[in-house]
Amino acid sequence: MLLPNQGATLADPATTSTDPQQSNGIDLQQQPKNKEESGLLSSITSNPYFSAGFGLIGVGAGLTLLRQGLTLGAGYLQRRLLVTLEIPSKDKSYLWFLQWMSQQAPKRGRLQHLAVETSYKQHDNGSISTTFGLVPGPGIHYFRWHGVWMKVQRQRDGKMMDLSTGSPWETITITTLSQDRKVFKELLSEAQEMALKKQEGKTVIYTSYGPEWRPFGMPRRRRLLDSVILDNGVKERIVEDVRAFIGNGKWYNERGIPYRRGYLLYGPPGSGKSSFIQSLAGELEYNICILNLSERGLTDDRLNHLLSNVPERSIMLLEDIDAAFTKRAQADNQGYQSMITFSGLLNALDGVASAEERIIFLTTNHVENLDAALIRPGRVDMKEFLGNATESQIRGMFSRFYGKDNKELEDAFFDRVKDRQISTASLQGHFVYFKDKPEEAVEQAELLWTQLM
Ligand code: ADP
Repeated sequence: MLLPNQGATLADPATTSTDPQQSNGIDLQQQPKNKEESGLLSSITSNPYFSAGFGLIGVGAGLTLLRQGLTLGAGYLQRRLLVTLEIPSKDKSYLWFLQWMSQQAPKRGRLQHLAVETSYKQHDNGSISTTFGLVPGPGIHYFRWHGVWMKVQRQRDGKMMDLSTGSPWETITITTLSQDRKVFKELLSEAQEMALKKQEGKTVIYTSYGPEWRPFGMPRRRRLLDSVILDNGVKERIVEDVRAFIGNGKWYNERGIPYRRGYLLYGPPGSGKSSFIQSLAGELEYNICILNLSERGLTDDRLNHLLSNVPERSIMLLEDIDAAFTKRAQADNQGYQSMITFSGLLNALDGVASAEERIIFLTTNHVENLDAALIRPGRVDMKEFLGNATESQIRGMFSRFYGKDNKELEDAFFDRVKDRQISTASLQGHFVYFKDKPEEAVEQAELLWTQLM
């Protein structure tokens, strides 16, 4: 709103006195002295500055009213004609929608600004895997879908944080015409369908992100159970046990027993522990949640939260379970010290008595280092040793690589390696190196123990 004296000041440069002394205020006070017979009213009305000021006040007020009217009108129209949908970053649909939209973009218009979503993981051997996904960046995007125009606004709240993940709070707001509101439902189900289709026939690997589980990279093609060769009967025993457990919640429920089952796979590195769990997940059409207990910043609370919030149809995998506690005493080179306690781990494993099914696999290379309390029944219900390659595994792997018709070569190979301690991972490396060359694989068998494969 214009203030009266501002209006006057702004009034009219043409009529403004050139005398710096003669400001509006001074002029007003002088007026009655010069024309004594005039009443106050006439002096006011006859004063050009003053009437100009009033005029401007009127125009200003009018404009303000108009502006307010327009704003109200626009607000009213917006309420009547437009409809908005808000998806907060906490919601499942949030990532689905972003991915869906990045797929739509090339087809239905251009996305002005893209943002990269990088998944990054450092493995135990130091290697790093990274995947990049391009999604619509923060800001406003317009696009058309099924003949309907939509405005998509991705907003990042600078002040608010999602405390559970430590990432800035975000919201996506989609606006369209009221009459097209049904499009939201279609759009969200298409986004969901697309996300789930990507996972069909695949295994999703989840890793922890703060206290949450997030998919790591793209879902992977299912690993076949046949591709992992374990000693006679091991695979069958575990698969049978897990199958008997799944879908048997009623039995546990009726007896008041927490519906969970723990498995421990132990043995030297490269014996197929992780690969077997992957193939088991593939066989059962389950996903995997992997957690490394030596992970930086992991606390008892977070661990507990993670274990009680495993996505459904997932196998929980705690790898190298011994490492978390042997390393605990020593801080790493950045002064970091793992923060989970042994009792915290036991509590988390026992978990809140939930009716939800929970399958946990623990793996270790050093079972001798594990505390008996960790692997007592109820926490670990089945233990299996996966060792170096046995005769059946050596033969099994040979025939898997070179076919079943190479019996003589298979015998020869077995004769050469039978007295050695060779891991199945080294065997795989050897056969990959001599791909399609079984004779050479036999001839050069000593490479398996003369050099690290
Ligand atoms: P672990 O978890 O016991 O250290 P991994 O499952 O990580 O071993 O195995 C390392 C590699 O060796 C994988 O590429 C896997 O395919 C291969 N491998 C190891 N053991 C077997 C096995 N028994 N059958 C098939 N492949 C195996």
